[in-house]
Amino acid sequence: MTEPRAELDTILERYGGQPTALLQILREAQEIEGWLPPPTITYLARRLGLPRARVEGVAGFYSFLHLERAGRYRVLFSDNITDRMAGNLELLDRLCGSLWVEQGKASEDGLVLVDTTSCTGLCDQGPAILVNGWAIPRMTPGRVDEVAELIRNDTPVETWPGELFAIDDNIQRADILLGTTLEPGDAIRAAISRGPGEPDERAVNERSWREGIAASAQGPTATLEEIKRSNLRGRGGAGFTTGLKWEACRSALGEQRYVVCNADEGEPGTFKDRVLLTRYADLVFEGMTVCAYVIGARKGFLYLRGEYRHLLAPLQDVLARRRRDGLLGRQVCGQAGFEFDIEIHLGAGAYVCGEESALIESLEGKRGIPRNRPPYPVTHGYLQQPTTVNNVETFCAAALIALKGGDWYRGIGTAKSAGTKILSVSGDCARPGIYEYPFGVTVRQVLEDCGAARTQAVQISGPSGTCIDATEFDRRIAFEDLPTAGAFMAFDETRDMFEVALNFAHFFAHESCGFCTPCRVGTTLLCHVMDKLQAGKGSQHDLNRIFRLNRLLQASSHCGLGHTACNPLFDTIKRFRPAYERRLESLEFEPAFDLDGALARAREMTGRDDAGAHLGVEE
Ligand code: SF4
Repeated sequence: MTEPRAELDTILERYGGQPTALLQILREAQEIEGWLPPPTITYLARRLGLPRARVEGVAGFYSFLHLERAGRYRVLFSDNITDRMAGNLELLDRLCGSLWVEQGKASEDGLVLVDTTSCTGLCDQGPAILVNGWAIPRMTPGRVDEVAELIRNDTPVETWPGELFAIDDNIQRADILLGTTLEPGDAIRAAISRGPGEPDERAVNERSWREGIAASAQGPTATLEEIKRSNLRGRGGAGFTTGLKWEACRSALGEQRYVVCNADEGEPGTFKDRVLLTRYADLVFEGMTVCAYVIGARKGFLYLRGEYRHLLAPLQDVLARRRRDGLLGRQVCGQAGFEFDIEIHLGAGAYVCGEESALIESLEGKRGIPRNRPPYPVTHGYLQQPTTVNNVETFCAAALIALKGGDWYRGIGTAKSAGTKILSVSGDCARPGIYEYPFGVTVRQVLEDCGAARTQAVQISGPSGTCIDATEFDRRIAFEDLPTAGAFMAFDETRDMFEVALNFAHFFAHESCGFCTPCRVGTTLLCHVMDKLQAGKGSQHDLNRIFRLNRLLQASSHCGLGHTACNPLFDTIKRFRPAYERRLESLEFEPAFDLDGALARAREMTGRDDAGAHLGVEE
């Protein structure tokens, strides 16, 4: 095989041969042959001036990049619990049977690979699949057969019927954000109009041209004050005060500042960013631009999760329009010296990149491994420069605040949770989709609005969040009670909550980045314990092991994934213990691995079956 050098050169040229664009370059290089052959890795490493091991290491880190032949058609079934509930595994079996392939193995003719992947952000219209990265929702046996036929005929994905790829927004309840009538540029102009913003305001110390603006409440300073007054808190889950984050970044020493929008919503059950980026992209970019104005950034990144590849071209069109309209580029909105532009960076299937420092590593063209903190990104972020990272929804809210003011915003919601929250509602309900409520809404109200009946449990904020039962449905969605990044999954009385926890345990083990041993091994051991319980071979000893593993993960994990991996197991053991107890075979210890059984093949090959060829099983 010859190296497709000309095509690779074109890709390298598009990214200016920058090593920071390595992930984007690898992603596009993979499209040439459907995988990344060794000569391609070698060539890219040489051209980028990087060690080959570094390039291979990055390619091996992201699950959507392949270092081995993966088939011209790569079909990945979304495997969140809501996809399971909608029958994704039966559909996967049907497709494998139809194409004569085994799950997880590329067909011998190199045509197709069928496998599973973590949640694809289509829980309101699952089961969903990705074909070569393109999302197809609402799979049914009929659609599976249609996909099989297209693959058998080797029909290029770009020419498949558009109807297959149609994705609904499912906006079920709108409030101040989803109901906004803000026009592109309104928020930026409002921010600028708060102060004179004179053209030559470059600071003597070159920290930022905006440092030169008088300390009185004008321009960027006045807008920052509005953001602080609004009490806006980050919508990604942690709830850090946005105004303080922006202020810290603005004050930090650095040659450049950066704005990063975290659109890597990988938490199973969350899909609100998908809708915001589809229908409210201008609002997202507007919020990023206001942030740039406040902190003094010239460059911004939107980190888009790989599963939302279908949004890349439409988002680039929005950016192009905004450049044409003077809302990006030099002299934004005619303001001399206000220069800002946004680049989109597409992820490649790594949940851990939702953690802001891992996301920054990925933006720099590295493996998405969380950094040691402190220092925090506000002082040492992208390329070690001050960087503000916020969630998609946070930037939308910031744009509204820039226009309407902090007092208006803090008047909505509760005392500690200002504004509204957008929920991604899925699971057992009649009307799944996007719901926006002022903070403080009860779980019961949401269940009523989405048409959920006989609900036994709700998983708030995905697997790393909280699972509550029916006695807690009067609790409120708010930072002071039930904080959430947005996922709201309802389970009715027919569901086995052990199966829910099992799915989440496998999710964490699959998504552990492997950097630290306690998380890599601990999440795998958790899966073994849960698999053993599922097989009806568990004992009280195994339940105790879950608690011991939690102590290990809490004490020794490097990032939040390891810290929260036991949450769904704890919550369900506490609230739905019978679901576990009916799986206990005995109160005594049963080994998860039958060592003697595993040696049966060796005994067969050596023709031995005497006592010495058997191992005693010890506790
Ligand atoms: Fe990676 Fe897990 Fe360690 Fe986080 S805790 S760095 S996900 S191995």
